[in-house]
Amino acid sequence: METITENSLNGGEFLIKESQAKDVFIPEQFSEEQRMMAQACQDFIDTEITPNIEEIDSMKNPDLVPSIFKKAGELGLLGISVPEEYGGMGMSFNSSMLIADIIGAAGSFSTTYGAHTGIGTLPILYYGTEAQKSKYLPKLATGEWAACYCLTEPDAGSDANSGKTKATLTEDGKHYLLNGQKMWISNAGFADIFIVFAKIEEDKNLTAFIIEKSFGGITMNEEEKKMGIKGSSTRQVFFNDCKVPVENMLSERQNGFKIAVNILNIGRVKLGAGVLGGTRTVTSLAIQYSSDRKQFGVSINTFGAVKAKLAEMAIKTYAAESLCYRAGQDIEDRINILASQGMDEAQAKLKGVEEFALECAIAKVHGSEVLDYVVDQGVQVYGGMGYSADAPMERAYRDARIARIYEGTNEINRMLMVGMLLKRAMKGEINIFDPAMAVSKELTSVPSFATVDTSELFAAEKEVLKNLKKVFLMVGGKAAMALQDKIESEQEIMMNLADVMIEIYAAESTILRTEKLIGMKGEELCKNQLAMAQVYLSEANDKINLAAKEAIASFTTGDEQKVMLMGLKRYTKAPLVNTKVLRRQIADYMVEQGKYPF
Ligand SMILES: Cc1cc2nc3c(=O)[nH]c(=O)nc-3n(C[C@H](O)[C@H](O)[C@H](O)COP(=O)(O)OP(=O)(O)OC[C@H]3O[C@@H](n4cnc5c(N)ncnc54)[C@H](O)[C@@H]3O)c2cc1C
Repeated sequence: METITENSLNGGEFLIKESQAKDVFIPEQFSEEQRMMAQACQDFIDTEITPNIEEIDSMKNPDLVPSIFKKAGELGLLGISVPEEYGGMGMSFNSSMLIADIIGAAGSFSTTYGAHTGIGTLPILYYGTEAQKSKYLPKLATGEWAACYCLTEPDAGSDANSGKTKATLTEDGKHYLLNGQKMWISNAGFADIFIVFAKIEEDKNLTAFIIEKSFGGITMNEEEKKMGIKGSSTRQVFFNDCKVPVENMLSERQNGFKIAVNILNIGRVKLGAGVLGGTRTVTSLAIQYSSDRKQFGVSINTFGAVKAKLAEMAIKTYAAESLCYRAGQDIEDRINILASQGMDEAQAKLKGVEEFALECAIAKVHGSEVLDYVVDQGVQVYGGMGYSADAPMERAYRDARIARIYEGTNEINRMLMVGMLLKRAMKGEINIFDPAMAVSKELTSVPSFATVDTSELFAAEKEVLKNLKKVFLMVGGKAAMALQDKIESEQEIMMNLADVMIEIYAAESTILRTEKLIGMKGEELCKNQLAMAQVYLSEANDKINLAAKEAIASFTTGDEQKVMLMGLKRYTKAPLVNTKVLRRQIADYMVEQGKYPF
């Protein structure tokens, strides 16, 4: 795709171009209206979820979650992304990210919510015919009907296109008979609508169907006994001659895998936002507990080791926020541009997300790993109480773990990142080869020792970022040339390259957010954000160094290896940051505020 606006980067181009702070969206820019919607959502969690969390997770009352779900529908929370003409709120893409963010603090209900509003509803919104949209969307947007998404099977998990569920046309040509077994289906226990992926006869690829429970031929196992998100319904679903009218096929025959992939792209970036409510809540709880808990006669947050944990929880959360709202707005802007150029709205949404599929995968992997880090440190700050089921950290710790598994495991997403970038490069959609060649040339030239004018705020940090991009181009470019198609069987290298990409995007988003924020509020009011951005970049630099070193060691030898290691040293040379002092400053400020205050 051509670059459509002056300032907008295409998907993946953050790796080869510099972005300006003015061109990225930061969460501090949300409007009054968006904040009010977020507050309504928070009020819903405070009144309907938090006081009932034990009962929700016990699943003793089978009517409880469906009744909370209906209340969410009455408040409009289930129709955020559905256009007004179909009974929804028709809010923008980044607004739906904000709602996913807030709902992220709702424990198991956030999976219930995400499965319904995301993978359950969006296939109809984006791929449905007018008749399908008018029939189903109003009921789904209001919560009259609940939806689930049936892709995974016992033998088809990461390899989702290998499902065995079969659809056979009846003799009169009016129905398909569906037979097969699906597994791990969120919301199955109370769903009215099932988006089901099956193969028609001997087809190679999946086809999607909208199935109403009332069609019959659907049975299910008991609820799965899970490690976490216990209040979220998860069942195996069996289709036994389930009679589906032919008009309930979604999109075209054999287009199911494409639907699954595109819907998962949206699910991934939303999951990146969906961890944030959790990371902020857990960080705030840890701050409060660390003030109340006294050992050796003082609050435990007077100890440097505890301060470092609190600060690090905040720093990673701040970075996750920065990258996911940047990606969300880039997607939204692209959707608006395509729609203004005459593209059908649903098509524009799909294309907008597809363009930034790489960033969607980054948001999912980074967000889910930040969440796991934060809950783990949360347990640690609580000490023995962190291990107690009577305190909140134990649930948060268990609930968090799923995020690295569903919406494509983090391993699959890491491989996708590299695969998508290479595919786009091959198709000429992104030119990584010329910049990679330029870096390759630079490696064998005499280094210039021109010093950077560090009097300008962020000049030094931007120089570090520029060099980290060169690390990616050096290692990624060489790996692509040396290994070509074989790179797919060198998964460890793909993991390394993905880690480099993730950290570049996260660090750059964090720096740009802070720069923009300082422009809005002044440096004095943003000194903690500045500290967070500096620590994050310093850590990212080290992580990138390690990942790149591992990759270099695994596919180069001799002089080539020496040259690349020298290049790595040159490109990861960064000013030393006193992380101890900065983390202390951040932690002290948060303790003073009594919560995650950013
Ligand atoms: C609570 C819960 C809710 C869920 N909700 C839904 C839902 O609503 N709808 C739905 O359709 N599915 C759902 N799922 C399924 C989920 O998407 C899958 O579990 C996930 O995609 C992984 O598939 P799998 O479990 O078969 O693991 P596997 O694919 O067997 O993976 C096992 C391990 O092997 C790795 N692996 C697999 N293939 C490769 C490869 N090619 N290269 C390298 N590593 C590989 C994986 O990364 C993982 O670490 C849910 C799962 C859970 C646990």
